[in-house]
Amino acid sequence: MIDPGHGGKDDGATGPHGIKEKNLTLAISKRLADQLKQQLGATVILTRTTDRYITLDQRNAIGNRIKADLFISVHINAAESAAPSGIETYYLNTATNKAAQRLADRENRAFGKEIGTLQRIITTMHQNATTDESHELALMVQSNVIRGISKKYNGVVDKRVKTALFYVLVGSKAPSILVECGFVTNPKEEKRLNSAAYQQELASAMASGIKRYLETGKAAHRTL
Ligand SMILES: [Zn+2]
Repeated sequence: MIDPGHGGKDDGATGPHGIKEKNLTLAISKRLADQLKQQLGATVILTRTTDRYITLDQRNAIGNRIKADLFISVHINAAESAAPSGIETYYLNTATNKAAQRLADRENRAFGKEIGTLQRIITTMHQNATTDESHELALMVQSNVIRGISKKYNGVVDKRVKTALFYVLVGSKAPSILVECGFVTNPKEEKRLNSAAYQQELASAMASGIKRYLETGKAAHRTL
């Protein structure tokens, strides 16, 4: 299951040249779906295939209803200055640093969801037995993306695997990650992210990471 972040009335982040996160996440997600079909012969479902608004709860309800094996949420990062760039992959855990918390706040807020019921979320997390698998999936995807993109592009910043309290991952029963594919607020990265060639490299590398996880990771010991 692939979840293109934002959509419809929710633009997500916007870059200096007006490029919107919601359009980038959809384009990258569609390419990722094609790559997963090609590389894995997988059945892939997207939470949205057009520019439409769906709530956070609807997103993971779809994943759980179809009993998805994996849940991949695709997002684009934003910062207050133009300088920050790079790619990072998150899996669900209590936020461990201020930057991760700020990001989680922004992404959670974008869905119009107030994280008021923290206790409920933490209870859900404790019931979630997929944390190790999500961590491993995050490591495989992040390392493959950095390696893949760096072959063709200069100055790719590896912001590594991190944890945060992303609401969109809370309800997922499958191993789940959220990939922040770059900073739309960085003019160079905004331009790259908006190009078909870069989107394709990203999607291909993400799919390779997912393939490697399924072949070699903890998933190999799990009945999918
Ligand atoms: Zn986002």
